[in-house]
Amino acid sequence: MDHKYMAEPYKVKVVEPIAMSTQQERTEAIKRAGYNTFLLKSKEVYIDLLTDSGTTAMSDNQWSGMMIGDEAYAGSANFYHLEQAVRELYGFKYVVPTHQGRGAENILSKIAIKPGDYVPGNMYFTTTRAHQEMAGGTFVDIIIDEAHDSQVEHPFKGNIDLKKVQALIDRVGADKIPYICLAVTVNLAGGQPVSMQNMREVKQLASKHGIKVMFDATRCIENAFFIKEREDGYQNKTIAEIVKEMFSYADGATMSGKKDCLVNIGGFLALNDEDLYQKATQLVVVYEGMPSYGGLAGRDMEAMARGMYESVDYYYIKHRIEQVRYLGDKLTQAGVPIVKPIGGHAVFLDARAFLSHIPQDQFPAQMLAAKLYEISGVRSMERGIVSAGRDKEGNHYFPKLELVRLTIPRRVYTYAHMDVVADAVIELYKKRDSIPGLKMVYEPPVLRFFTSRFEPLK
Ligand SMILES: *Cc1c(COP(=O)(O)O)cnc(C)c1O
Repeated sequence: MDHKYMAEPYKVKVVEPIAMSTQQERTEAIKRAGYNTFLLKSKEVYIDLLTDSGTTAMSDNQWSGMMIGDEAYAGSANFYHLEQAVRELYGFKYVVPTHQGRGAENILSKIAIKPGDYVPGNMYFTTTRAHQEMAGGTFVDIIIDEAHDSQVEHPFKGNIDLKKVQALIDRVGADKIPYICLAVTVNLAGGQPVSMQNMREVKQLASKHGIKVMFDATRCIENAFFIKEREDGYQNKTIAEIVKEMFSYADGATMSGKKDCLVNIGGFLALNDEDLYQKATQLVVVYEGMPSYGGLAGRDMEAMARGMYESVDYYYIKHRIEQVRYLGDKLTQAGVPIVKPIGGHAVFLDARAFLSHIPQDQFPAQMLAAKLYEISGVRSMERGIVSAGRDKEGNHYFPKLELVRLTIPRRVYTYAHMDVVADAVIELYKKRDSIPGLKMVYEPPVLRFFTSRFEPLK
């Protein structure tokens, strides 16, 4: 029997009531928060679409795993479960747990990048680029041009442009490129996937020049689903088979377990190269902890290992992607400008088109996120000029994409919640002309989007 949408492939065993608020309370709250949704208290939020990071609902199986945490300082049984999951599902030889994804990025950047190096990537990610730059590297964007245009439909908009990689090799020399950073999916492009063919070709080109390929594996399961759906030859493969093949084109990966490993905290660095692994174990003890726990409790590693097995279930990931698409389709039908095609973890509002009367240096996406909260209690996130930060000369980066991200947590909200979100965005779209820009009144030196503060312009 066909249904309008695939209903949740799980049932509810525990509930968490959410606080309801009035418009007036929200008007005061967002002002107090400096028009930055990161600075709201979670209790002031009705539907929290700030991020899909660490906001997952764990399963009964994961919670029961928490009870068998082996909290030994060294050689915890849960570490071996995690190691087994990484080897079996992703195919890497070595794993170094870290407290979250950026812990792995820190270690990888420090062991692989020398000052003066270049690190090409398919669009930047905030923490990834920050670690690369702190290690003395320069990030170079090598994503296909289509990714920078929110309206171009492309089945694999996260793909790397091989000509851009070749041009960089010709310009700076392969010995100045320690690795290519390949993200699956590409968060800042709108959760856009990379095709298997592209991964294969990137690996071939990199190998020819002795350059490694390191994946940002954060949303690898979502990427695998899109491959199954869209790429010839993969329709009859399982998600697990696709994931395994994807990682066969990588020399290593950083993972934020808070996304596709279905946990609230955790991450890891996975490697095949023994030499790099040795270096990683030397650093992890300084920054995270023993190589057999890396800043995590035994129970956290157990939950992550179990989450990894659950994540490759076809019906889990099908429901997730379809729920995101349901929200996006509703907005599209109402004429709201969003990034196309709809990505894996979020719907991205195109704030540049939505608030076309606000210039980019008056932070249209920041204001759109603030206004959406104010009218509905729905919390979203700016992904535009504020997130992009400043270059070495201190000027704003002016990214082509000026977006508001409505990120859907895994296994948390229902289709009814998606309807509430869609109705609020559509209402705001109808009165978009009355929304003013912002000025920045406080700015921290790095990763400014987390704590900067704003005031509305007259
Ligand atoms: C979340 C994320 C990271 C960083 O992971 P944390 O667990 O938040 O430290 C890195 N890359 C991408 C693409 C992410 O979405």
